[in-house]
Amino acid sequence: MSRANVMAGALGSCVAVGLLAWALVVGAAAASEAAATTEGPGASQTGSPLADAPQTGRAGVRAADAAELPTRMLEDELAGVHGEAQRARIRRGLSQVAARWRPSDGDAAQFARFVREQFAGTQQDQDALFARFERNLEQIFGHGLEVTRQLSVPLHVDEGAIAPYDEMFAAWSPTAHVLDDLFANKLAFVALLNFPLTSLEERTRDGASWSRRQWAGTNLAENFRQRIPAAAAQAVSEASAAAERYIAGYNLWMHHVTDARGRRLFPAGKRLLSHWNLRDEIRASYAAGREGLERQRVIQRAMERIVAQEIPRVVIDNPAVDWNPFTNAVTRSAVNDAPPTFNVPALPPGAVDAAREPDTRYAIWLANFHAQREVDRFSPGQDTLIARIFESERQLPETRVESMLEQVLGAPEVKDIAALISQRLGRPLQPFDIWYTGFRALGDHDEAELDRLVASRYPDAAAFQRDLPQILQSLGFTAQRARYLADHIVVDPARGSGHAWGAALRGAKAHLRTRIEPGGMNYKGYNIAIHEMCHNVEQVFSLNDVEYYSLTGVPNTAFTEALAFTCQHRDLEVLGVAKPDAQAEAMRALDTFWGTYEIAGVALVDMRVWRWMYANPDATAAQLREAVLDIAREVWNRWYAPVFGVRDVTLLAVYSHTINNVLYLPDYPLGHMIAFQIEAQMKKAGDFGAEFERVSRIGTVAPDLWMMQATGAPVGPDALIAAAHEAVASLR
Ligand SMILES: [Zn+2]
Repeated sequence: MSRANVMAGALGSCVAVGLLAWALVVGAAAASEAAATTEGPGASQTGSPLADAPQTGRAGVRAADAAELPTRMLEDELAGVHGEAQRARIRRGLSQVAARWRPSDGDAAQFARFVREQFAGTQQDQDALFARFERNLEQIFGHGLEVTRQLSVPLHVDEGAIAPYDEMFAAWSPTAHVLDDLFANKLAFVALLNFPLTSLEERTRDGASWSRRQWAGTNLAENFRQRIPAAAAQAVSEASAAAERYIAGYNLWMHHVTDARGRRLFPAGKRLLSHWNLRDEIRASYAAGREGLERQRVIQRAMERIVAQEIPRVVIDNPAVDWNPFTNAVTRSAVNDAPPTFNVPALPPGAVDAAREPDTRYAIWLANFHAQREVDRFSPGQDTLIARIFESERQLPETRVESMLEQVLGAPEVKDIAALISQRLGRPLQPFDIWYTGFRALGDHDEAELDRLVASRYPDAAAFQRDLPQILQSLGFTAQRARYLADHIVVDPARGSGHAWGAALRGAKAHLRTRIEPGGMNYKGYNIAIHEMCHNVEQVFSLNDVEYYSLTGVPNTAFTEALAFTCQHRDLEVLGVAKPDAQAEAMRALDTFWGTYEIAGVALVDMRVWRWMYANPDATAAQLREAVLDIAREVWNRWYAPVFGVRDVTLLAVYSHTINNVLYLPDYPLGHMIAFQIEAQMKKAGDFGAEFERVSRIGTVAPDLWMMQATGAPVGPDALIAAAHEAVASLR
């Protein structure tokens, strides 16, 4: 959901952009686009109170410098000038500045002069300072994002060929180095001197009693929490880009991947990217009966070879060889099914070299870890990536996320649904049935018929644009609010599957990028367009109708997605075809629950591997491989083996996100939980439009507080589990 992801086109299915974009950019620590991807999106950042403690140990040189700054003397002096009531504020501000001050920023005398000049001692001065930062940050980041959007139009909007220089324009960002600049000119220090960084613990404990203005003030400071040297940011960026390249090239030519007996089960020319396409092929194969089952077994074996790094290196993205993943034998292929444009690697004469891929997957994972270790050294109070992701970006403690995941994994409904799947399949469950998808159904509607209906209604982007007010009204917005929203959303024809590009400048328009095929929009494109449009709706409300700029947006990515999902499944209703009936609702609950059960295990593996790396910082790639396999088996054996009746499966380690989008996976199960919480609230409230607007305007407060204000309960899986429970009961 970060801007960087859109630029890189890293997320296939859905990307929403713009939520408090200035914070995203600043949160990316002045790094390049790729570094921002690695860091992930963050609407605002929080950290630990330790951030304010004197720095010791790993902080190294900077700690010694900070210790030499005359903070005690200045605290007494400023308290004398502004009054004892200000002492706590003064102390916190001084320590926040001192922890990030470098020798190049000035000596002790210059530090003292800066502090004396910039401390706002009266309420009036603080108000003026706050207002100026609010206005000016909006100018910088709002206009910055507009420039970025304009420069990347040729890449995202379907309007003729892309020139090589278009990519260069799109890769440049006017705000890429803004955090460096704001530290260099000391504006960042002005913010840190006057507004408090707060820990997740403080936000959770005290946040409910804070005023909106207090929340905005602490969000403002959080933009400047991280001051990462350019070299460290660059290292993160490079490690991330290397991971991206590795993952993007990890294809299997399926006509050349055989079953145990050496038979070809897949059509010529089928080239699948690991893990996404491989997983989706497993999903698609449910429709192909016995033959589909054979294919699913082949893919499972191939996946296991990939995670164990037993896959012969020569097999990767190479249609010149045949591979039997059961015996692991590789032979020269007699079939050439690659298109003429594909550059088939030349094989040396003689027997094919069947040497395994030498732990590259784990070496790349480790390289990302090592790059983060450099950032750790400059992250006061958040000296692990785990802390930065969970405390700042996700803003839910790691242990709480873990227990929410385990609540889903251990829910009694799992066994009920597993029995239902087994019954529908007419066979015992196989490990790859974690990707079972048969609960999805279009009902009585023929997709070709829907394609025709959608294409005739929306031959081009302009037709969708004209229909926006109508679509919004059928979702439940009043005519007046629908008009307001439609006036703030511009529909563009997308090159890819589509995304929602929000603005960061109040009054600027959100852009809905939607796929239009030559004959008009098809049903799949329409379904995605409804999802993206609801991102835009949230973006419009959460930017334009929130009282402080520093409060705009939603707490994190999972919330953005959750809000979009509440509209997407009503697409047929909006089209005037059918309202989802009880059966369709039950199917959707089962499908989401099963998907959450699957991804919760994957997320647990991801989280535990990072913990293991921090506990074993000097591990080799081979050691990491063994640890990942052990962790994947442990999670499987605890939560899946009792359901599937098979032990020691390693499939949970196959997700590519673990390599190229570090610690991102927990957002998926959280997103599903949050979606069901919000949806239950919408149903309870009855008025979809008014309720969607109300919750979109809560802004970037801590996730639990947001959810309390939205639904009366903190973030949790209860609504999802309840929906699954009801669905199981309704099908009995
Ligand atoms: Zn989305």
